[in-house]
Amino acid sequence: MATKLQCEICGGKLNIRIGAGHAECESCGNVSELDPKDTARFRAVFREAERLMLQNTVSGYEEAIQKLQSLPFIDEAREKEAVCKRRLELLRERQRQREEARKRDSAKDTRLGIVILIVSVLFAVAAVAGIVCLIVLLIKGMLPPAVTAIVVAAIAAVGVLVILGRIRRGG
Ligand SMILES: [Zn+2]
Repeated sequence: MATKLQCEICGGKLNIRIGAGHAECESCGNVSELDPKDTARFRAVFREAERLMLQNTVSGYEEAIQKLQSLPFIDEAREKEAVCKRRLELLRERQRQREEARKRDSAKDTRLGIVILIVSVLFAVAAVAGIVCLIVLLIKGMLPPAVTAIVVAAIAAVGVLVILGRIRRGG
């Protein structure tokens, strides 16, 4: 690369300004022009990095950081790299928060599911117990005639529905 990193006069560090197309010595202030080919290459890297940053994605920032790190001697690239790293950190933090919220929601759904299951089982047990009681009372002849009639009719109706269902499925 033709662009020098050290001042020709005092040997101080050169501060490369891509936009201006020149480099300024940090020690003596001597300004030297950059090789136009280098300037074009630096600007291409910056344009590419800026394009990647616009994506506002983790991979975009990671790639942009890689591109900018190919210009380790340019302060402007370091500044942009720092911006990328800050935005990348923010983006990752937001993703972490979203992931945690999703986990909390799914845990809540699981708890609700368990409660519904328990309540359903309790209802089912109560229904079976009620039916068993009715049948026992029926057998022992302890039910009033009207209730006996209703229970027998209900059992008969269920039986007919089951048989009809079988016939329809079979046919
Ligand atoms: Zn100098």
